[in-house]
Amino acid sequence: MSDIPEPVRREVRQEANFGCAICGNPIIEIHHIVPRSEEEHNDPERMIALCRNHHELAGPQAEGITPDQLYEYKKDPYNSDLVDYDFYFESETPLVEFAGCKCQLRDLDEMSILSVNGEDLVTMSYSDGVLQFSARLYNQEGDLVAELNENEWIAYTEDVWDLTYNGNQFKIWHDKRDIGIEIRYNSDTDRLFMRGNFYKDGALVRATPSKIVFPGNNQVIGCTFIDCGGALALSTK
Ligand SMILES: [Zn+2]
Repeated sequence: MSDIPEPVRREVRQEANFGCAICGNPIIEIHHIVPRSEEEHNDPERMIALCRNHHELAGPQAEGITPDQLYEYKKDPYNSDLVDYDFYFESETPLVEFAGCKCQLRDLDEMSILSVNGEDLVTMSYSDGVLQFSARLYNQEGDLVAELNENEWIAYTEDVWDLTYNGNQFKIWHDKRDIGIEIRYNSDTDRLFMRGNFYKDGALVRATPSKIVFPGNNQVIGCTFIDCGGALALSTK
């Protein structure tokens, strides 16, 4: 985990209406405009939400984006309002389809979507129309290599990741495509589709919107969450 306190992260995300302050991408990293190599701080006045690309362009070695420009983006972020945010739902109850499970979302704080061997690998929160995702991404060796923490991307290794976003979907894939998560929203049908590959305790769990496959060729198809109170809980052992 990063050492930025949760209230500070929330303030920085909210200020930019839950997207990169420059381009609106919902998968963000938190950038210290005053670098912590200069001053150890977690002062939201001198921090900003940026996507990974813009974070790199704003980095200390980069010549692209100046601190002055970043302060301007803080005042006038790309998502000028929540309604500009693509994972903001005017719908009361979007339907999530994942691993053959259908789940009608209601306004609630946090919900576990996929739990393997007792650990939540995918959770989402849906509150005031804002949908945020968390995911824990392990490699086959069992190391936590990256995570999504309420849409904030945190990578722990030098591994190469492909993060793409366009309008109604985002995709996060490890360069070997062995680990990753994708989420797509269809506004016509008011449905969210999720898929992903996850390792847990060395076992690969592959989930599509319609089914989930895990070691031993066990397949789970077509379960239905009645009230989404619990996760799809699997044991690979
Ligand atoms: Zn950006």
